[in-house]
Amino acid sequence: MALLTTEALVLRAYKLGETSKVVVLLTRERGKVRAVARGARGGRPRYQSALEPLSQVRVTLYGRQGAELLRLGQAELLHSAFRVGERGLDAALFLSSCAELLDAFSPEGEADERGYRLALAVLGAVEAGAEPELVGRYLEAWLLRLHGLYPPLDRCAACGTGLPAGRPEYHRPSHGFVCGACGPASGPALAGDVGALLRDVFSQPPEKLTAKARSPVRALESFHRTLVTEHLERDLRSPRVIREATREVAR
Ligand SMILES: [Zn+2]
Repeated sequence: MALLTTEALVLRAYKLGETSKVVVLLTRERGKVRAVARGARGGRPRYQSALEPLSQVRVTLYGRQGAELLRLGQAELLHSAFRVGERGLDAALFLSSCAELLDAFSPEGEADERGYRLALAVLGAVEAGAEPELVGRYLEAWLLRLHGLYPPLDRCAACGTGLPAGRPEYHRPSHGFVCGACGPASGPALAGDVGALLRDVFSQPPEKLTAKARSPVRALESFHRTLVTEHLERDLRSPRVIREATREVAR
């Protein structure tokens, strides 16, 4: 008997033996799970595009409750990320970073409905034409916030007093923004246009975001990277891939 049938997003898949794959899924009902997809490789592969990264699928999973590795039965493709990737290099890079972030932040075997809805919202926004770079910042900001890792912008992380509006200064040892009395802060300080972008990110759906300039988007990227790296205690792979791809295209 099947353990469960659930909607899921494919985060990644890796080879197992000659004919199988292990697929890492972000399921709606049980968070991140790993499952063996028998026959997913070889001459007549089963599943086909259903196991491409960020495919939205309906899967049937077999195995013991709480097992580290389940077995994949049916996988019905509900929506492919192909159209997102087709939008160009930025969108393709967004997909790889999206899959990596979701993988890094999703708890194993624990339902995370808000994380799942967030993933669908950002994929839908980029497919509908939103700017991949901005939507990437949106995804980072919300993943950090949903995990309680986004420092409050209006309160000193060291002494709790209100921070004046303007240019909050981040201090690594305090994991937050600090007031003048608790400084000097290690940085970075977020300039006014970065703060404005961040307010948009936390108050608007991803498809509504627009950026007037590149620099606040880049500043936010670098700040989020600081927060993500501090939390995971490792660097993500995709920012490096993005930098290399951007350089390659510029040549
Ligand atoms: Zn303070």
